[in-house]
Amino acid sequence: MTLKYCQGPDCHTYHTQDRLKGIKGSKTYQTRRRSRLLFDEFCDTRCYNDWFSTYGTQAVDHYGRVKEVKHLTEENAWQKTYDWDSDYQTRLYVYRNGITKEQRPLTKQQYDDTNYTLNERG
Ligand SMILES: [Zn+2]
Repeated sequence: MTLKYCQGPDCHTYHTQDRLKGIKGSKTYQTRRRSRLLFDEFCDTRCYNDWFSTYGTQAVDHYGRVKEVKHLTEENAWQKTYDWDSDYQTRLYVYRNGITKEQRPLTKQQYDDTNYTLNERG
């Protein structure tokens, strides 16, 4: 089991017992290491928020900033749903258009099939 380092820039500055390591006289607070991390990178939401506060704008600039309004049109506003108050056996599945409110019947197989869509672009 390999341990990964928390990527929070200030992880080592938080005074928790599990971060305090070393022998008496030379103890230090250390970056947490975990086999499982939040988003695979952070020990907790505080470290995640620290990272985003420090690097978020740079990351968005690097990977592509939204610079104009995006539109979800009628052609792509279909969502799979079902009547939530019915029980599993008698449940009715439908495709509902979030703009026109039109509904079309769906089979259970179509509902479960992640490749099945009425939307023009997935
Ligand atoms: Zn951390």
